[in-house]
Amino acid sequence: MSLIVQKYGGTSVGSIERIQTVAVKVKQSRDRGHRVVVVVSAMSGETDRLLDLARAIQPRPSPRELDVLLSTGEQVTIALLTMALEAAGCPARSYTGAQVQVRTDSAHNKARIRDIDGGRVMGDLESGRVVVVAGFQGIDEHGNITTLGRGGSDTSAVAMAAALKADECQIYTDVDGVYTTDPRIEPRARRLPRITFEEMLEMASLGSKILQIRAVEFAGKYRVPLRVLSSFKRGEGTLITFEEDDVEEAKIAGIAFAKDEAKLTILGVPDQPGVAHKILGPISDANIEVDMIIQNIAADAKTTDFTFTVHRNDYGKALEILKDTARALSAREVQGDEHIVKLSLVGVGMRSHAGIASRMFEALAREGINIRMISTSEIKISVVIDEKYLELGVRALHDAFGMAQNG
Ligand code: ADP
Ligand code: ASP
Ligand code: MG
Repeated sequence: MSLIVQKYGGTSVGSIERIQTVAVKVKQSRDRGHRVVVVVSAMSGETDRLLDLARAIQPRPSPRELDVLLSTGEQVTIALLTMALEAAGCPARSYTGAQVQVRTDSAHNKARIRDIDGGRVMGDLESGRVVVVAGFQGIDEHGNITTLGRGGSDTSAVAMAAALKADECQIYTDVDGVYTTDPRIEPRARRLPRITFEEMLEMASLGSKILQIRAVEFAGKYRVPLRVLSSFKRGEGTLITFEEDDVEEAKIAGIAFAKDEAKLTILGVPDQPGVAHKILGPISDANIEVDMIIQNIAADAKTTDFTFTVHRNDYGKALEILKDTARALSAREVQGDEHIVKLSLVGVGMRSHAGIASRMFEALAREGINIRMISTSEIKISVVIDEKYLELGVRALHDAFGMAQNG
């Protein structure tokens, strides 16, 4: 008899009918003899609706109160799903994050899980009940409600699986696995039966929204067997594997993209030691995270141009800070661009195969797509391009690396 944690995302619990469908699936797992813990998201659109309500009062609502509000979305779902399970003849009990002691730090709206006390959940499982837990939420050491950031129910599920030493954590969603790229952008994208943990971590951190990055980190740290599956159709889904040898033909796993970046450039800065620190210091002091960085030295070697990217939400603030820096350093000009995207090619096969970068650049050039920035690591290559080329760029790379179905 195995212990399984199943997570159902917003679309999967988006209506009463869908909640009833989930209840049937959960009951079937229990009838097969498994002990089942279910982690759920808010019904689709609910978290956005709650955010809009808060912003109608204050553009930047208090993070603590926002967490009190946002956590209600998941509380609705746990109660409805538990009722649906009981109606289907399956004994079940619902709990909020606080009730099962999902303990987090105090970083409201983006809290990190520290530990979970699985005792209460185990007690219910031993009594034969299905346990339904609210995802996305926890409680800090002072008893405040916290939330884990958008997509955080994935992390709740993996953390719960780690705490209970579950045999598998199954993430049920509206696609039947992890694809070579987002099938909404490239309909010919192919489901990957397996992906390595490292590749999944890169895909998630480079913008692929299929799994929250912290969920993947947690799975790695505690070696939680993790699988992504469809709530609506049968199948094996995608297994996140820790064995690289398992993945056949593992040159390139897929393409991730991030639409939420922005680029800033400071031009004509007198080139002296410490200039990078003078430019980026005030940015990091303002708690703004910098992603990619490029520095070009002018032909006369006296001035330098410096470009970096930040999250689009931080663009306005970063631009203001950079203009102040430009005045202080007597730089020539500051430029900004919010209409960029980052495209990344991910694959453990890059370690052993040369020429992948040049093939990538060639494919983009053939479509007339200008590359604005490049960064690489052992298993990924990222480029910044104009936002308008996102779909064309993704499809060009998908073709160039033969990732299409039957391709
Ligand atoms: P849930 O509400 O179940 O958590 P999400 O919307 O967070 O679901 O994640 C599922 C979505 O992730 C899919 O509908 C798909 O558009 C998107 N997605 C992005 N990249 C990928 C990928 N590589 N493979 C599959 N889906 C992807
Ligand atoms: N409801 C939260 C969100 O929409 C958490 C989640 O769905 O994972 O981001
Ligand atoms: Mg999600």
